[in-house]
Amino acid sequence: MIKLEKALNIVMNSAITLEEESVPLQEACGRVLYRDVSSDIDMPPFNKSAMDGYACRSEDIDRPLKVIETIPAGYTPQKTVGDGECSKIMTGGIVLEGVDCVVMVEHTEIKDDLVIVNKKSSDRNICYKAEDIHKGDGVLQKGTLLTPAEIAVLSSVGCDPVPVSRKPVLGIIATGSELVEPSQKPQSAQIRNSNGYQLYSHVEQAGCKPVYLGIIGDSPEAIGSAIDQNISNVDIFLLSGGVSMGEFDYVPGVLQEKGFKLLFQKVAIKPGKPTVFGKIDNKFVFGMPGNPVSTFILFEMLVKPFCYKLMGADYSHTKVTAKLAETIKRIKSERLSFIPVVVNNNGEINLIKYHGSAHIHALTKANGILSIPVGVNEIKAGENVQALLIK
Ligand code: AMP
Ligand code: MG
Repeated sequence: MIKLEKALNIVMNSAITLEEESVPLQEACGRVLYRDVSSDIDMPPFNKSAMDGYACRSEDIDRPLKVIETIPAGYTPQKTVGDGECSKIMTGGIVLEGVDCVVMVEHTEIKDDLVIVNKKSSDRNICYKAEDIHKGDGVLQKGTLLTPAEIAVLSSVGCDPVPVSRKPVLGIIATGSELVEPSQKPQSAQIRNSNGYQLYSHVEQAGCKPVYLGIIGDSPEAIGSAIDQNISNVDIFLLSGGVSMGEFDYVPGVLQEKGFKLLFQKVAIKPGKPTVFGKIDNKFVFGMPGNPVSTFILFEMLVKPFCYKLMGADYSHTKVTAKLAETIKRIKSERLSFIPVVVNNNGEINLIKYHGSAHIHALTKANGILSIPVGVNEIKAGENVQALLIK
């Protein structure tokens, strides 16, 4: 049995780099940038008015000003503002040399066709050429996870299509002779396959491509042939169930038979101990115990960082430190325990009803996961603890 940090190291050190592909800007959100991107223009590209108002020389604002031109956004001004003059300008309009301020329209009135400034302000209301970015400046680095802010930047520097890493393809297999699909009513001794769909949605949310490969009964032949049939189409297999010590837990044996090198088979975490990670050439497999909370934790702790690494990004969870609202005690402490919690706005971490690794419903009430370190049997109410956010 190895510690989680060690397991994560093994997983991350096994990662390969996936190839580059090009996607249109509309499809780039959630993807990882494959190359550094620099700007092909200054931003702003010209001195630009930040307000609707009057562009003039600041030394003139005590005088009535004559309007010589109207400058909408998208128009190139034709006239130079001189002594006692101004141009009516809209937000985004070009501010020409010689003009050093834009007086907000709200601070003016018109008298006898002349502009009177009736409220003085020290604001220049000009966005200066290249004040955000100079032409040729790097704007985003390879490995950046693209969110709407980065999409806006890519758009403004003309980066369309966008060079991103290919999405890893994850083939999802739910093993277990007791499983039926969610659309079916479970009969005696059956349960619905929730892991298949939980994993599918995790994979999608992580910006990767899930392929649902169905339910496979607890038979080494059936598991083996599912691997054979799909290995050429996936980068990673995610198998749920069949990795523990039970008589019908065939997954690790089948993986070895198929040539996978198993890099670990037990991790000191609760839930999720009998987790298997294996590799053959550039293909990988995670075999996870079937209880749905184990699946959830393992995806967060191992699969997700691995997927991002394949795409060239560093993933780290958002963590918060807050006071624990009530004391937690446990008898055994040889594993790192994960429990669902609620991180409140008032800076407290509350425990919720949680019956163990089959109790996936608890995760719908939680917004965080608290870990209790190896060797710790008690954390007292009021102590500061760290939770990672899952919502
Ligand atoms: P296993 O890891 O195969 O020993 O399964 C552990 C527990 O998880 C058993 O109670 C299984 O019935 C349950 N389980 C296994 N696979 C799934 C699944 N795909 N969806 C929900 N529960 C599952
Ligand atoms: Mg099973």
